[in-house]
Amino acid sequence: MAEQLRLMAVHAHPDDESSKGAATMARYVAEGAQVLVVTCTGGERGSVLNPKLDRPDVWENIAEIRRAEMDAARAVLGVEQAWLGFVDSGLPEGDPLPPLPEGCFALEPVERAAGPLVRLIRQFRPHVMTTYDEEGGYPHPDHIMCNRVSVAAFEAAGDPQAYPELGEPWQPLKLYYCMSFTRARILALHEGMLATGRESPYQEWMDRWDDRPDKGDRITTRVECADYFPVRDDALRAHATQVDPDGFWFQVPMEVQRHAWPTEDFELVRSTVESPLPESDLFAGVREWLDRG
Ligand SMILES: [Zn+2]
Repeated sequence: MAEQLRLMAVHAHPDDESSKGAATMARYVAEGAQVLVVTCTGGERGSVLNPKLDRPDVWENIAEIRRAEMDAARAVLGVEQAWLGFVDSGLPEGDPLPPLPEGCFALEPVERAAGPLVRLIRQFRPHVMTTYDEEGGYPHPDHIMCNRVSVAAFEAAGDPQAYPELGEPWQPLKLYYCMSFTRARILALHEGMLATGRESPYQEWMDRWDDRPDKGDRITTRVECADYFPVRDDALRAHATQVDPDGFWFQVPMEVQRHAWPTEDFELVRSTVESPLPESDLFAGVREWLDRG
């Protein structure tokens, strides 16, 4: 029997896994791969973004509630999940920005913070890893740190000289950045809504897009996963404190999404196997590598 394919997706907070690459993970699970979500922080400093749950008892128990929400989302996606155990840095707001809270994830030295992830890589032995781009996908300090730690761990895990106390070396074969919010995708969804006579929730994004850098030209890999968009949405709704079920994220009907943009997109940033670009499979080249034994 062929060796099972293994995918590790590293995320900053509980809920990020359900909004970035979730349908891709659900598809690979359905196809028999083993998928491990790694969550760097507990999301302790997140807000309550669902008006129906904006209550004192929810705010008081937010860390515990977010763990339970993550368990529910994990079950929906059919993935395994592990916590790295770092403390949420929060999203600093104000001018000037306040300093980050002592002891938070983003203030950890990268070399130290990468250790627990190196250990997990050596235990789980992923063929493919995903994380965020160098700017975090969006500029939350924990998302930027998630990128740094993932890249450092990807590079160290296969090196017998690095972290020798953390297990047998294992070199993942490919590393990807999630490319979820590109201009072309948002525009396609926006136009899909207008073309079907609906109001677009993206109007404001489109109006101020010129201020934002667009990374669409960095996409190397488009994974067809529209059949799993409903699973993605169910997983996202499981993070009940973090999304308003009547809000922004759920306003684009499934048929519009499926038609406008049926893929999730990634940038291949490291590879030890041959896989001609562009690709449509995170395991391109890995399957062939495994077949050769
Ligand atoms: Zn996050």
